[in-house]
Formats: sequence, C-alpha cells, structure tokens
Amino acid sequence: MLAGDPALDFVNTLHWRDDCEVDFLPDYRALVEWSVPAALLSAGECQTLLDCASASPDKADEAHRQAIMLRTAWRNTLDNVVGNPGRRMESDDLRRELVQIFAISERLMQVEQDGNHKTADFLALPLVRIGIAVASLAMIPAGRRIGRCEGDPCGGYFIDSSRTKPRRWCSMDSCGNRAKVRGHRARLKSAAQAFTCEPAGKAS
Ligand SMILES: [Zn+2]
Repeated sequence: MLAGDPALDFVNTLHWRDDCEVDFLPDYRALVEWSVPAALLSAGECQTLLDCASASPDKADEAHRQAIMLRTAWRNTLDNVVGNPGRRMESDDLRRELVQIFAISERLMQVEQDGNHKTADFLALPLVRIGIAVASLAMIPAGRRIGRCEGDPCGGYFIDSSRTKPRRWCSMDSCGNRAKVRGHRARLKSAAQAFTCEPAGKAS
C-alpha cells in the first residue's frame, strides 16, 4: 500500500512486475484479503466474508467480477485524466459502475440493520467500501494531486504530497532504485567510453 489512498492502491492491484502484468486480485478471497491492509475492512469482517463466500461462491464471484469492472473503469478514467490538467475526473463507465454499487449499498445497509452478516448480500461489503473510496477521490479531488510512476512499464498511481520536486516513483525501493541503478550503469558506460577514447599518454 504505497499510493497514499486506497482508491489508488486498488487501481495499482493490476501491476507490472519484471515485465509481466500481474493481477493481485485474481478472485474474491484475494479481494477480501487485500482490503484489510488497504484499511477498507477489519480483520473480523474479512473472516466473516470468507466464511460467507464458501457458503455462497456464486455471489462471491459476482462481487469480485463487479470489483474488477470498477477497477477497469477507474483505471481508464485515471489514464485519461492524470497528466491532462483541466480534465474532469469522470467518465460514463465509471459513473455506471458507481451507480450500480451505490444501489447495492442500500441492500447492504439493510443487512447491517438486521445484524445478519451470514446472508449472501453481505458479500458486497468490500465492493461497496472500494466504491466509496473511488467515489471520494473522483468527486472530491481538491488538494490531492495524483501522480504516476515514471518506471517503465510500472505506471502505478499515487498521491503526490511532495512540497518541492514532484514525486517520481511509486516506491523508492523498487522503481526508484531500478532507475538509480540504470542511471549509474549508464554513467559508468559513458565514463569507460570516454576513457578508451583518450589519446595514449594523455592519462599521465
Ligand atoms: Zn513504479
């Protein structure tokens, strides 16, 4: 969780690693487990949801599928907006996904009211919490500058809260470090080339 906002950590779950695109949310279980460190679910809610998912696997798959559709729409919106100042953070696809999720959230409120967390409707909890996080960042972006990692092909999103120079990397330990190593190698190579080009005798 490096992005500084769960809505961006969510979009970064489709990530480049060693030149391969990796999906950190391949199924409902992964979605629920990811939501705990993302501060969208408590550990207790996670356990209840996993129990519920084994009782209603089809409903769990449906909630996972909707989360992935939200991620796709959210990612496309960010791709279109970040780096293009003046564009509004919205799109028809994102709006459609969020409207559906907010309709589901009404059923979820009923579940909460009844205190019956064993029903299949409760499985939508991570989807609704993620939807709220995405809507919050998309609709209230004021003061939150979104940046994009320069690591190629990383492209991960983050909240850029730096005051002086813009933040460049999703993480200094991964993309930042790789860029530093590449830069160092390039400097060594050009220094070696300059040395071999030096006329003989000049070095003394
Ligand atoms: Zn990166």
